[in-house]
Amino acid sequence: MTLLDIRGLSARYDRGADVLKSVSLSMREGEILAIIGANGAGKSTLLLTLLGALAPSAGSVWWQEHNMTGMPVHECMKNGLVLVPEGRRIIASLSIQDNLLLGAHLRRDRKAIHAEMDAIYDRFPNLAKRRHWKASGLSGGELQMLAIGRALLARPRLLMLDEPSLGLSPLFVERLFDLIREINQAGTSILLVEQNTGMALALADQAAVMELGCVTMAGPAAELATDPRLQAAYLGLD
Ligand code: ATP
Repeated sequence: MTLLDIRGLSARYDRGADVLKSVSLSMREGEILAIIGANGAGKSTLLLTLLGALAPSAGSVWWQEHNMTGMPVHECMKNGLVLVPEGRRIIASLSIQDNLLLGAHLRRDRKAIHAEMDAIYDRFPNLAKRRHWKASGLSGGELQMLAIGRALLARPRLLMLDEPSLGLSPLFVERLFDLIREINQAGTSILLVEQNTGMALALADQAAVMELGCVTMAGPAAELATDPRLQAAYLGLD
């Protein structure tokens, strides 16, 4: 079933020119879609527009065949679209526990929230041990795990991850990609924006390349990984 269908979507900041230019992409439920491209290509802008944080200037977004164009962020989140933003946006002065709970702020089912928090602590023992500590003491890798834990508490159907591996050590990057695979295998669709092109293409089912606000290539990730143009531009292979 088609989960997300993006049709001719354009967006801009304030009164500037469009930085997202007629992007069309679709993904099926259960897939991992990777979006790659250089800095400034418009990848984060696409995620912010899908989340409802930026109003499109043209085009539409369809979520399970319902038009969700221009829906506010909290409605998008209630529908299951959840973003782990670039830079994680963890609140350093709050405890690990309170940061996690922020992910559940639209939910009222306290029992289920606490059961899911326990499952997150089981998965990340480093967070469990220090749950009442301020998040400021965590390493980059632990902050990324906390940001993903917070997003899971919002019960995503589509988890959007913006540059999750940025600034992490190679060991943590491996763990992060394993975690993304596990979350996907447990049934959550994933939209992954990543500069680590090789790993992203190895993980994803489908992929798209963005350049200057446009999608310039799209298709099965395994096919894109062997495309000479992509290899030369993003994988350092000639
Ligand atoms: P990066 O990996 O650097 O975040 P990206 O592909 O995600 O790159 P965007 O962050 O979406 O790219 O940026 C697309 C364009 O929009 C860039 O030209 C950028 O300068 C511009 N832009 C991004 N955020 C804003 C903003 N808040 N206000 C105005 N312009 C912005």
